[in-house]
Parts: sequence; structure tokens; C-alpha cells
Amino acid sequence: MTSHAAHKPPAAEHLRSVALFGGTFDPIHAGHIAVAQAAQRRYHLDAVYFIPSSRPPHKSQRELAPFIHRYAMVALACAENPGFLPSLVEAPSAGSAPHVYYSIDTVRRFRREYPADHVYFIVGADQFLEIPTWRHYEALLDSCDFIVASRPGFRMEALRLVIPPEKLGRAASPDGHKIPLRKTAVHLLSTVASHVSSTEVRERLHGGKSIRGLVPPRVEEYIVGQALYR
Ligand code: ATP
Repeated sequence: MTSHAAHKPPAAEHLRSVALFGGTFDPIHAGHIAVAQAAQRRYHLDAVYFIPSSRPPHKSQRELAPFIHRYAMVALACAENPGFLPSLVEAPSAGSAPHVYYSIDTVRRFRREYPADHVYFIVGADQFLEIPTWRHYEALLDSCDFIVASRPGFRMEALRLVIPPEKLGRAASPDGHKIPLRKTAVHLLSTVASHVSSTEVRERLHGGKSIRGLVPPRVEEYIVGQALYR
């Protein structure tokens, strides 16, 4: 017997807005959370995926804390906000040689898996200024919208300079918070003013100093319990 429900037209699907937030998260800190919260509010994001990178292309010189610890801390930080989700999309695969993940591949993978979603890529101003060094960055700029968060010491006016002129769209928004590109847009989140960095957190721990308030409380407990960054 055919159910009544089978004849109903499909319910209009809610189009999700999601953001991918990649980083080394070594460890995740209050600055990352401030960026994600501000983006969540401003762009009405249904989900922010925190994507710790097993082996980032840009920071390969320094020895990172093991992926499993960095992922665990991201998961603990995400437990405080139902819209935050830890992602294993750039996790190392068991047994194989370390794999370098590129943002362009991660964005394409998300777009394939969730074709109906509006995808943003969140990045701090310091990282966006480096974007010309990223693999296939022109294709990356075409592949999704960006949310660029302000970071003390980095000028938001400089962001436009790293975008190839032929990618730029017409007029910028009157409030100056959006740089339209031909296919996508770069949104400027100028309200974040956190001075915290993972480097500072590691250095303080190394020097035996307190990190209270610099990382979420559960992350602090984890760092102390696992004796990380001594
Ligand atoms: P490290 O000090 O080890 O270089 P980090 O603090 O920059 O690390 P990452 O994990 O490399 O942290 O950063 C992930 C993303 O978050 C990057 O796009 C970075 O620009 C952004 N980000 C990190 N801290 C801040 C902050 N305080 N304000 C704005 N953006 C930030």
C-alpha cells in the first residue's frame, strides 16, 4: 500500500549556511571562538565546522602537538556551542604517510557532499594576506564566499590588494564590509579584536604561566591533564 505521505510534495528544504574554519588549533583558543561566534551571529550560520589540519602546508617547519590532542581540544571547545562542529575531514589516515591537505580540496569536498549548502570559508586577516601562496588560490576564491576576521596588527584595507584585479566584481558594499568578486564575495568581519594566539598560549605554558581565560575552561583542563606544551 502506498502511504499518504508518499504523495506529498517534498517539503521545501532549508538551505543551510555553513562555514569551514581551518587551522592548526595548537591549541584552539579564545580568539578562534570569538571569530566563530561573531561569524555565526553576523551571517546566521547553521554550522561552523572547525577543521584541525593534520599537516598544514604553511606551518610544516614547527613540530605540532599530535593531531589527536588538537582534535580533542577542538571537540571540547565545540561542546559549548551547538552550532560548532569538530571535523575530521583533514585527519591523518591510519598507517599512510602524512598527507598535506589543501583548502581547495576541502572546500570542494564539502560542496560535493552538501551541494545545497551555502559555504563560507573563515580565515583571519593574517592568513588571508598570505592567500596568494595557497594552492590554486584563484580557484579557491571562485569556489566559496570568504569571511575574513580582523586580527590586531593586520590592516583590513590591505586585503583587497591580494585579490587579483580580474577577480574583483563591481562596487564594494557602501558600508565597506563586503568585497564583491565576480563569482563569490569576501566579507569583512571587522569587529573581532582578540590578541590571543596559539603561540602565546604555548609560550605561557612553557614558561609555567597561567592561561586562564585564553582558552575555554575545558580546554585548559585537558591541557593540564595531558601535560601538553610543557
Ligand atoms: P599560531 O600562533 O600557532 O600561528 P594561531 O593563533 O594563528 O596559531 P591557527 O590555528 O593557525 O591559530 O589559526 C586558525 C585561523 O584562525 C587562521 O585563519 C587565523 O588567522 C585565525 N585566527 C587565529 N587567532 C585569531 C585571532 N586572535 N583573531 C582573528 N583570527 C584569528
